[in-house]
Order: sequence, then structure tokens, then C-alpha cells
Amino acid sequence: MDSEDQVVDQPTLTTSKGIKFITLSDEEKVRIYEPWKNSIIVKLVGKRMLHYYLKRKIQELWKPTEDFQLIDLGVHYYIIKFKKKENMDKVMYQGPWFINEHFLSITRWKPNFVATQEKVANSAVWIRLPQLPTKFYDGNFLEKIGNAIGRLLKIDICTSTTLRGRYARLCVELPLEVPVQPFIYVVHHKQAIHYEGENFLCKNCGRLGHIAQKCSFIIQKNRDGKNEDTKQGIINNYK
Ligand SMILES: [Zn+2]
Repeated sequence: MDSEDQVVDQPTLTTSKGIKFITLSDEEKVRIYEPWKNSIIVKLVGKRMLHYYLKRKIQELWKPTEDFQLIDLGVHYYIIKFKKKENMDKVMYQGPWFINEHFLSITRWKPNFVATQEKVANSAVWIRLPQLPTKFYDGNFLEKIGNAIGRLLKIDICTSTTLRGRYARLCVELPLEVPVQPFIYVVHHKQAIHYEGENFLCKNCGRLGHIAQKCSFIIQKNRDGKNEDTKQGIINNYK
């Protein structure tokens, strides 16, 4: 077999209009994705920062145990490429993170991330489920609850010897552009959802990542008497 024969199992497809279409084999996916598996995609919400300054701030904030690259993806998204899993885990599970009081959204690296197509910035956040009935403290069931609220990343069941008793913390990925849900029905139980982190949940619009004083949404009653919010600047006659 000569060297040309070896590429036969990775065909370049051609559409009827003559456009070439290159696919990745499973083996290539493993090889190409491997160096990125501990990487994190970040975006500083509502603030632009120069690359070197952002990198310095991230260094001070996370104090990772290795040098890292901060790669600009465009439209204010960056990849932080860690080699060590411990550094990724710390960032993912010890947030929320802020730089100069601006929220730093974090998402695990994913293969097909295209910054300009990312309409909704997601971020990992910790939530608590206070007074969740004891019978629901079941790993698989907590996973189901977490995935109903967002994309579950981690479960942490805390046992406090003080007044609190047992409570569940879930790390979930949530979109920042959508107001958060204050509760969820777990079977017939109305379960409150508490979002961790001070100055993190806007009391005006219910979105994560900014405070009410910096909120750019205007809450108005619509004709049905329901709350409706609009991005500031869109309404001309509002003063
Ligand atoms: Zn707001």
C-alpha cells in the first residue's frame, strides 16, 4: 500500500454544485480536540478590556498553576487554554468570577464554537435548592433537576451541622440573556431556586451577570398587565 492509499477512509466529499466538503474522522476528532479539552471560553460581560490587561487580571484572579494562552475569538470572547484539568476545574466550580466588578462568564470549550454565531452567552453558575424534600436527595434525580434548570455541570450536596441541615448546590450552565426562573416544580413541590453570588442577579430584570444599577433593560407593564422588558435605547419615547 502506498502513502496515497492511506487517506481513502477520510474522503473529501463534493456537493452537486462542486463545493468541497471536508469531514473529520473519529480518530482526527480525538487528536484535534485533545489539546483543548481543559480549555475554557470566557467573556467579560458589559466591558471591553485590552488583551494584555485582561490576561493579567485573569492571572491575578485564578492564580493557575501553569502559564496559559488567552486566545481572542472575536466579539469579546476568549479561549483560555489550560493543560491541567485542576486549573479548569477550579475555574468552573469556584465561581462566580468578577473582574473590576464586571461578571466574567465561563463556558467549557466546545468543538464548534464560533464567537460571531454565539447569540446567547452562557455561564456556569451555582444554584441552591433550599428545603428540598429529603426524599429527592438522589444523585440521578438531582441531575434531572439540574438539567431542567440549565445544563448540569456538577452536584455538591452540603451537610451543615448548624441550622441549615442538608442542602443541594448545583453548578449549571445558564444563558445570561434570559431572565432566570425563581422556582421550579419538583413533582408537586414548589422549589425555590437561589442563585449564588452577591451583585450577580439583577433585581430589575432578573438576568444574571449585572446589578440593577447597571441594568440596560426597562421593565414595563404591557397591555395584559404582564411585565415586559425592552433593551434601553430601542424605545424612543421613554424617559
Ligand atoms: Zn438587569
